[in-house]
Amino acid sequence: MTTPFAPTVTLVGAGPGDPELLTLKAVKAIQRATVLLVDDLVNPAVLEHASPSARIVHVGKRGGCKSTPQAFIEKLMVMAAREGETVVRLKGGDPFIFGRGGEEVESLQREGIAVLVVNGITAGLAAVTSLNVPLTHRNHAHGVVFVTGHAKPGDDGTDWAALATTAKAAKLTLVIYMGVSGVEHIAGGLLAGLPTSTPVAIVQHASLPHQREAFCTLGDLAHTVREQGMGSPAVMVVGDVTAGVAAASHKTAQQARQAA
Ligand code: SAH
Repeated sequence: MTTPFAPTVTLVGAGPGDPELLTLKAVKAIQRATVLLVDDLVNPAVLEHASPSARIVHVGKRGGCKSTPQAFIEKLMVMAAREGETVVRLKGGDPFIFGRGGEEVESLQREGIAVLVVNGITAGLAAVTSLNVPLTHRNHAHGVVFVTGHAKPGDDGTDWAALATTAKAAKLTLVIYMGVSGVEHIAGGLLAGLPTSTPVAIVQHASLPHQREAFCTLGDLAHTVREQGMGSPAVMVVGDVTAGVAAASHKTAQQARQAA
């Protein structure tokens, strides 16, 4: 007896950039794929795992750049899955940390397509790890918040002052994605609840050979981002975990990277 055909799409996290940070599951899914839809933050090096006969569709959609509308991407996945293709949707970092993975799952399931999801290492985690800075620490941070600096049109976005007050009261590290372009607004809001001396690390192109980082305080954040020319893709990590450890381990992490 043959199993009935079930159109399926696999959402795969391609990690933050370094192709060696792919999971084994991700590699196997990429190898099996006959059609791959690839976001633009995905390092092209991960496509070396794809079959030479696979169809690779680049569907980048970064702010300000030419992009494939989300509805069209979802339609493409549905069509390819129904045609019996082994469809992989490759997304930067983890598919379920921003990047609209949740919306894609909902829309595929509405169309009766089965969905599998393979985790990837999210950029915020890789960014601090590259500096030997932990996101949580028994002495400094009891938890961590991944938060976007870029709400969808029409949405008021994050209440930064409220978040800062909570972060201070509950000792939370804040990892801000997509925040550098709106850094003045974000820092202004955070300063309503956190001291100006709160340490911040900014990491651009985390895990890639051209990674850059800057350290400052919340009071200097907007100035530092502009002065150092920190642009997208970057994360800003706000909280005591980046103090001290940052200054010391930053050096050793950089030395280790250079030696690797
Ligand atoms: N799903 C992704 C995030 C997608 S949103 C993940 O889990 O990482 C895109 C944002 O992620 C960027 O604007 C930036 O804030 C962050 N980002 C992605 N790759 C990055 C990298 N290599 N270094 C720093 N930030 C990165």
